[in-house]
This record gives sequence, structure tokens and C-alpha cells, in this order.
Amino acid sequence: MHEELTALAERLTALGEQPALPCLDPVNAAMIRNWTQALGDPGDWADAAPPAMIQVWSMPGLVEHKGGGVADEPLRLLNEHGYTGVVATNCEQTYDRYVKVGEHLRSTMRFGGVTGPKKTGMGEGYFVTWYQSWYDADDQRVAEMLFRVLKFQPRKRAGNAPKKGGKYPLQPAIGLDTRFFWDGVNEGELRIQRCADCGTLRHPPGPMCPSCNSTNREHVVASGRGTVYSYVVHHHPPVPGRTPPYVVAVVELAEGVRVVGNVNGCPPEDVHVGMPVRLVFERMDDELTLPQWTPAGAPEPVAEATPEPEPAELEIPLTPTFVIATALATRDFTPVHHDTALARAQGTKDIFLNILTTMGVVQRAALQAVPGGKLATIAVRLGVPAYAGDTLRVRTERAGDHTLKVRGAVSLGDHVTATVTFKEDA
Ligand code: ZN
Repeated sequence: MHEELTALAERLTALGEQPALPCLDPVNAAMIRNWTQALGDPGDWADAAPPAMIQVWSMPGLVEHKGGGVADEPLRLLNEHGYTGVVATNCEQTYDRYVKVGEHLRSTMRFGGVTGPKKTGMGEGYFVTWYQSWYDADDQRVAEMLFRVLKFQPRKRAGNAPKKGGKYPLQPAIGLDTRFFWDGVNEGELRIQRCADCGTLRHPPGPMCPSCNSTNREHVVASGRGTVYSYVVHHHPPVPGRTPPYVVAVVELAEGVRVVGNVNGCPPEDVHVGMPVRLVFERMDDELTLPQWTPAGAPEPVAEATPEPEPAELEIPLTPTFVIATALATRDFTPVHHDTALARAQGTKDIFLNILTTMGVVQRAALQAVPGGKLATIAVRLGVPAYAGDTLRVRTERAGDHTLKVRGAVSLGDHVTATVTFKEDA
């Protein structure tokens, strides 16, 4: 496969620039207004379009479009050989000049190469790179974008859901005492039973309060934060639906009670007693979802030892409206950015921010830090997804006369780390 992929990459690279999707509309005030309103961008873009919008002008929108991507063939080849996972890793835009309202752009794509195989945190994979360029009516380039994805072989993790349509072999016994718990799981909540008389929390659920013997009961919704109280690494015997080794942990919730679950998302050897974990919902089959645990990740950014006097900072609550409005304002109709049920069915926690919006947020933070600056490049490294319900906190830091580092973090860790450069004559 490697030789075939390399030969294919060479052939595609030799093709050079190919016509890309047509830019359906000229650069226009209405789409700019949708974009600035959705992103909360306060800039004055009456004449020029926001540079980070460049890709929006060539987005196909809510229509079927057949292939045409310069990287389609290598991506398909990798798929066929088990590299079925995909995650975008880099997006770098270079702005030759800002485009003006009324201009009709033309777009091209060219293949940029394949590197690999490489061992990554996601599994073994290949990085696939391509470029998109935009030209004006005089065939002068106005912008270029590098886009890179990692195509990887998803590691066989403990608890991977069975093939589509299969039923996970371990099904919970749901009774009168536990139905509220499973109803909660299906609504994305971890519910803890509480005595309606004395208020004592208890888990697992049961008919009677062990403190006051009351049978009146209600529940609270757990915060989803906890620490590993104890755990075992299961190697043997084989358990249907599970691939050893995997971690079975007793997790002490912030609320005080302890629950049993798997700790996924890290190698078993990384798990330790006292490790902060957070709740995730793992889709096991078409009907069953299980509350599980994953490392809580990097703590939220804390104040630096030497606090900057006026840290340029953006704090964006990622409401569903923000995630959906920005996806549509960037003409990105991929369902994982607007359809919660579908996003969850595909195994993600919720709908999440699209990359075109991330570029726009970086631009917004950069121009807030350097008012009046003329952007030359935005180079973005993509990290964890920014899910609806989270908060995106963006910090900027000067890294030279014309360079700014931008970092956007969510509760899971860094969503984006970017380097922004400005034109020198501004
Ligand atoms: Zn009680």
C-alpha cells in the first residue's frame, strides 16, 4: 500500500493546480454580515472582507457535490487499507491582499503530498496535505490555504462499539429502581439518586435510603467530575464486547458517591489512583450508551505568575446557537456542526465548532490584540474539539514585531494554537 500511495502522491503532485469548486457568489456584504454577526466580530468590514472568510467564498453550501477534491484518491486508498480515522491537524492561510466587496474570485486546488506512516497519539497514520488558492479577475492570487489531515488506523480500544447494527453483548438490567438512571444517560446526564427526605446521595440506586430508611427518592445530575478511587486493569478472562487490556475503575464523584466505569482515552498504564477524570458517554450500539470516564486533561489555564497588565482575551460561550450560526455563516452544512442527535450517534459528545469558524475566532482575537493590523498569515494547529456547552477562552501573546501567538482552550485542553503574522507596512 505504501508504494502505491507514494506513487499516487507523486502523480497527483505533478498535476499541479486544478480548478476547484466554483465561487458561487461575488464577495458580498450580506455574507460578511452573517459571518461577523455569527462570530461576534466587531470589526469594520464595510469594504474589505474579513481575510479569515476566504474559504467561505468557495464553499459549495447545502448541495451534493461529487468528489473533485485533489486528495480524494489517496484518502480513499488509505480508507481501504484500514486508515479509516480522519482528523484535521493544520490549516494555514496566507493573505496576499484583502478582497473587496464585489470581487468574483476563482479557486484552485493542488495536491501537497503524503508523509508517513507515523505513530501518533491517535494511532498509526499518514498526513495528507493539499492547497487551495483564490485568484482575482486579473488572475492574481489573493490568498492560499494549506490544509492537512491525519488519516489513521483507529486503535482498538477497550469498549469500542461493535460494527454498525450489532448489539453490544453486555446489556444493563433496567428495573423500576434504575430506569431514571438510564433515562438520564440517554439524555446525556449522570443521575445520582437522592433521598427525598434526608437528602443523602446513594449509588447504585436502590429502593430505600440507607441513612433514614425512607423510600421517597429523587435524583441530582452529577457534574461529571471525579477522581479514580481505585481500579483494576482487566487482562483475563475474555469478556464479550471488550478488548483487553482495559481499565475498570471506581470513580469518586465530586458529589461524594462512587460509581464503576471504564477509563478510556488513555493507555491503562497512565491510570492512577487520584487521577482526575471526567464523564464521557460512550455509544455502545444503536440503543445503549454507557457513562464512562476519560482523563480530565490539562487543567484550565491558570493566571501566569507574572500577570500581563492587559491580556487580550476573548471568552466565547459555545452555545448551540454560536456553533450552528457560525457553521452556517461559513456555509458549512456538515451535520456534526448542527445536528446534535447525529453528532452523538457518531460518537462525539455534542455538535462542535467547524474549522472555518476557528480561523475566524483566531482572526478576531488577533485583531483585538493588534487593532488596525493587516493580517498576512494565520497558521493554525488544531487540537481537541470545541463542543457546544463549553467555553472557548482565547489568549494572545506577542512573539515579535509582526507575530502573535494565539491559543484557544476549552475544558478538554487546547482547541487551537496559532501563529498570526501581520504585514510590515501596517
Ligand atoms: Zn434518607
